[in-house]
Order: sequence, then structure tokens, then C-alpha cells
Amino acid sequence: MDNLLFLKECENDLKQRFEELDDIAFYNQEKVLKAFANNNIALRHFYGSTGYGYDDTGKYVLNETYAEIFGSEAAIVSPLITCGTHALNLALTSVLRPNDLILAITGSPYDTIIECIKGRDGEDVGSLKDFGVKFEQIELNDDKIDEELTLTKIKQLKPKLVYIQRSRGYGWRKPVSVDDMELIISKIKELDKDCFIFVDNCYGEFVEKREPSQVGADLVVGSLCKNPGGGIVPTGGYIAGTKRAIDLVEKRLTAPSVGFEVGSYEIGYRLYFQGLFMAPSLVKNVIKGAYLIGRVMEKLGYEVLPSSKERSFDIVKSVKFNTQEELIKFVQLVQSISPVDANAMPEPWDMPGYDDKVIMAAGTFVQGASIELSCDSPIRKPYVAYFQGGLTYEHIKLLASKLLDVYGK
Ligand SMILES: *Cc1c(COP(=O)(O)O)cnc(C)c1O
Repeated sequence: MDNLLFLKECENDLKQRFEELDDIAFYNQEKVLKAFANNNIALRHFYGSTGYGYDDTGKYVLNETYAEIFGSEAAIVSPLITCGTHALNLALTSVLRPNDLILAITGSPYDTIIECIKGRDGEDVGSLKDFGVKFEQIELNDDKIDEELTLTKIKQLKPKLVYIQRSRGYGWRKPVSVDDMELIISKIKELDKDCFIFVDNCYGEFVEKREPSQVGADLVVGSLCKNPGGGIVPTGGYIAGTKRAIDLVEKRLTAPSVGFEVGSYEIGYRLYFQGLFMAPSLVKNVIKGAYLIGRVMEKLGYEVLPSSKERSFDIVKSVKFNTQEELIKFVQLVQSISPVDANAMPEPWDMPGYDDKVIMAAGTFVQGASIELSCDSPIRKPYVAYFQGGLTYEHIKLLASKLLDVYGK
């Protein structure tokens, strides 16, 4: 069958998913627009500053706009936060003190965070462990938070911080929905209202109508090279949360005496506002594209997560392959259809922060930005490609067509 006809069929199969996504994006677009109006966003907020960055109104207004959209008391959004891992490490080190305990309730945190928490054997790397912070983890049970065990451990161990990872990371598991977070957070807060609820929100922003900060999370953390950057923010991270938590983050980001009063960025903030404005629609297209890729691979006989029958709570699509070679071929195909470095050939390598070799396709305008068409995977069993992003739906559809050429015949 003609590729376009085949893809039309796939799109028809996904009609219900696409309608749900249109509804969410419409809601979130209005939410963002209202926040812009309420914060009186004007051209003058786009200009940057130099040196100490006192009176840099753009940076404060950007924080407040994020806080409104995330339904949080406060937020810090900054190009001085270099990536998601940095933002997560910053948030953890801001609120944790010696002898405190982290209780992770969604299994292992993302690969690059593990060393930040657990350190390295026999070496002082300035990890949380090196500062005397302890760590315990509870596995997901059938992709759900184990409520009973979580509440038992909260009573027993009195953790200072409960760690939730919304997206799947490099695990064959479903993301955690905000509804599920709401349930567990309210129960944890009943037992200990002072326990910090921490959410790694990477890949989750604007996927649903509510963010974790709207259901009681104290620290919600993500990267601007992903969803909220709208595909055009050059670098940065954000942390949204309660005033109690964000005050501590400010002091840790710079210094206890000066907090967020200092910090400049001469290039300015236009792209930060513009990217945020475009994010709901971009995220919608990215998820539609991920469903299309997933549907094509399903029809070709591969297992994908989430399946076309399930709602998605992050932007990622996992595709399971039988062999390492098949997986590598898929990643290379993504690279070959990228607007930048299309002729580069990705290979598995020892990336900083990862234990296994990792292969990544990212022929992106912003280096490594995974809200752009990209695919990455640690080389370990099961052989799963984690696919996400795409600045336009048509670009992702072109990949789907290419997949039909390669895997369909
Ligand atoms: C991408 C990601 C991170 C790390 O972000 P970087 O910007 O790559 O450092 C952390 N957690 C999750 C769930 C992610 O998807």
C-alpha cells in the first residue's frame, strides 16, 4: 500500500487520542495566554541585563508567569540552570541537609540523577551521599505507585523528601499521571505536612491540564530544552513550587546572602516567553507524532508504550526491538531524517552521567534538545528506543513514512 494511505489509516485509528490532545492543548493555551496578560508581559521584559542583574525585570516576571501557569506559589526559571540534571540536583541540594532521607516512590530516578544522589564508590564527588543524605527507593507496582508500602515507609522512616519521577526515563514503564500523584500526595501530606514532595517533571509539562504543583508538589523540576522551552529556548531549567522550597532554591542557585537578586543574561528573555507561549501546541503535535510512530510500529509487529489504546502522560514513545542491531538502525534512521547533521551516523558511546553505553539521535537546532525530533537509548536489554519530539507534525510523519520503507518491506 502507498505510504500516505497507510499513514492515513493509522491517523484514523488514533482519532480519539488526537481529539483528547486537541482538548488539552486548547485548555493549556488559554491558561498560558491568561498568565501572560495577568503578568502584563510587555516588550521591555524581553531585554536582558549584565553583571549583577539588579532590576532585571524580565527575569522576575518570567518567574511569576511560570508560577501562575504551574499553579505554584513561586518559581525560578533561568538560563543559568544548564540542563534538567542540573535543575534536579539544584532542587535536591537546596532543601536536603545531613541525615535527611530521600524516599523515591517511582523506582530508580533517571540515570544521570543516580550519581548525584548516591555518589560514586570510594570517591568524594560532592553527591548528596557525600553530604550525609540517605536514600531509599520503592519500586512501582504494575506501573502504579505502591500506596501501602509508601505510607508504611513514611511512618517508619520519616523522609524529608519524597521523590516522584513523572516520565519513564529509560525504563519500560508508563509515566505517572497527575491524578495518581494527587492521590498519593494528599495521603503523604496527611501523615507529614512538612515532607517535601519532589517531582522530576521532565517531558511532562503541558501533557495534561494540571501540573504536579497544582496537586500539592513542593518542587516541580524540568528542562527548557524539553516541553516548556517550546523548541526555541537556547538553554535553561525551571523549578516551580512552594515559597518555602523556592526560597531555599534561590539561595542555593547563587548564595544564601543574595539569592535571585543577582543573575543576568544579556541576550534577554524573548525566546523564554515565546517558547512558553508556543509550548502547549508544540507538545500536542509532538505527542500526536509519537502516537503515529507508535501506531506504525505496532502495525509492523513491534511492542510500543503507551499503546495506541492508552492515554499518554509524557511525550515519549518506547519501542521495543528484538536485537541491538534493530535498535541502532532505528536511532540512525531518526538522525538521517533530521534537519541538522543528517549525514552524521550516531553510535553507542560512554556519555557523561550514564553507566551503560548510550546511543542518541539529535539532529537538532538547539544542541541535544529532545523536544526536537530525537531518539535515545541505553544499550541494554530489553532493547528499547525512547523516541520523542519533533518541531512539526509533518516532520514526524516523514519519519513514519521512512519507517514504513525500512521496516515494512
Ligand atoms: C531528560 C530527563 C532528565 C535529564 O535532563 P537533561 O537535560 O538531559 O540533563 C531527567 N529526568 C528525566 C525523566 C528526563 O527525561
